[in-house]
Amino acid sequence: MDLIKSNDIVARRVAAMVNRVAGMKENDEYYYNMPVTELRGGSKVMVDGREMEMYASYSYLGLVGHPRINKAAQDAVAKYGTGTHGVRTLAGTLDLHNELEDTIAEFKQAEAAVTYTSGYVTNLTAISTLVGRGDYVFSDKLNHASIVDGCMTSGAKFRRFKHNDMEALERMIASAPADAAKLVVADAVFSMDGDIIDLPRMVEICQKYDAWLMMDEAHSVGVLGKTGRGIEEHFDMWGTVDIKMGTLSKTIPSVGGYIAGKKDLITYLRHASRAYIFSAALPPAQAAAAMESFKVILDEPWRIEKLNANTDQFIGGLKGRGFDTMMTETAIVPVLCGADETAYAVTRHAQKNNLFVLPVVSPAVPVGLARLRATVLASHEEKDIEYAMDVIAEAGKDTGII
Ligand SMILES: *Cc1c(COP(=O)(O)O)cnc(C)c1O
Repeated sequence: MDLIKSNDIVARRVAAMVNRVAGMKENDEYYYNMPVTELRGGSKVMVDGREMEMYASYSYLGLVGHPRINKAAQDAVAKYGTGTHGVRTLAGTLDLHNELEDTIAEFKQAEAAVTYTSGYVTNLTAISTLVGRGDYVFSDKLNHASIVDGCMTSGAKFRRFKHNDMEALERMIASAPADAAKLVVADAVFSMDGDIIDLPRMVEICQKYDAWLMMDEAHSVGVLGKTGRGIEEHFDMWGTVDIKMGTLSKTIPSVGGYIAGKKDLITYLRHASRAYIFSAALPPAQAAAAMESFKVILDEPWRIEKLNANTDQFIGGLKGRGFDTMMTETAIVPVLCGADETAYAVTRHAQKNNLFVLPVVSPAVPVGLARLRATVLASHEEKDIEYAMDVIAEAGKDTGII
């Protein structure tokens, strides 16, 4: 490789990745960074001049391009322009930011909320602001990378418990010093497997051991609960989650992240979290779009009903065709393939037949558990879902999965 000009370790590291990417491209295994030129309602997209059915989007309720949301963004640009010229604490706060935070707090039935410019940064900064050296943070093994990074940055003792195993969590938490500060954190819906955290047991444990509870609702807002308000609505356990984290980039078609909770918690984060104090405010268009989206979710409850119906059709149909969809109960549907090679073969067949779907292979998942990771959306039509399942089944038969 040209890049290696000496025994430079950094150059070798760069070259190793460059080689890996080139190898994947040669083997027709590279489906990342595909340029989409049009988002037709979110469930159909244009790629390289052909229309594909989208099964890799997190726009669960099909809100991308919603006329009300687009208009809110356009009006905000007309009124405020495109940037916020700095951090919130100094000159960056607009009335729009405060209204957005009030809207989120109300949607999440919390006293207050604070926003940041991405979900990733929200987890990183919130966790590392709330706990530090001498404290304990307990994290599900399948938690999102942004949670892991928040835990590591915090300097707290970082304990990872077996996925969704509340006995493992309790054993771990019981063995920590009784007087140490404790934070338990988990995805509400797991982003690779689509299963739901056992909130009732987790709340019991947190109460018993005096631990704070944080839920990452990136994949549960707009997905769980009758009105899409997430994990607490799903279990009818309002008021049991101390730190309600979410993103504005998935169901909500904008960008940004938030924490909702008690007023004092939010005041603390607004004055102590580094991503709030040292990073610029959300742009007006994105704040306005996010705010309008929460209102649209409440005004158009049919979207959640449609998502639920589509989820049942997709999971039921795949199982009926003989696939293992693991533990999913939500719109994130893993289709177990086994070997990495098999997952690539199924992906190739799906992509050739205009399904935009991606494989997840080792080391992202354990060897032997490679899969397609498909997401179903409210904007999919029944016949589109049947088509997608038929295509996946053809590949499943060819590769001997079913
Ligand atoms: C996507 C995601 C995030 C990060 O959100 P961004 O807004 O994309 O930065 C955090 N947690 C989970 C579980 C996610 O899936």
